[in-house]
Amino acid sequence: MDWIANLLSHNGKFLGIEWGLWKIIGWLGNLVFFTRFFVQWYATEKHKRVVVPVVFWWLSLIGSLLLLGYALFYKRDSVFIFAYAFTWIPYIRNLIIHHRHLDAHIDCPSCASRCEPNDQFCSQCGGKLKQAEAAA
Ligand SMILES: [Zn+2]
Repeated sequence: MDWIANLLSHNGKFLGIEWGLWKIIGWLGNLVFFTRFFVQWYATEKHKRVVVPVVFWWLSLIGSLLLLGYALFYKRDSVFIFAYAFTWIPYIRNLIIHHRHLDAHIDCPSCASRCEPNDQFCSQCGGKLKQAEAAA
């Protein structure tokens, strides 16, 4: 068990890392950013098809902003700054589109189920949805 103690505390430092506020922020960014892979993988395995859950975009956004902060204010390295300088744009765009899609859902007038924006009939009770009535 000595090797575990050596791994956790190397040269008197936890994991051999010189810890400071920006190191904590940077590693937190790494942890959040890395977690998104497992979240997406789990969702895909669960649904047996490729699925990108909304939490994936939140983890991407938060992780990349933490890493951008680390790159800008601590590392001050152009390679790391560029790597995270623009990634937040598609993450925010995906979150906006996701919420617009949710808002566009239609509540069934018969059973109150939430139906997809372009559905003509309720997937639960088969009742006609508003846009189908308006078209008729
Ligand atoms: Zn219904």
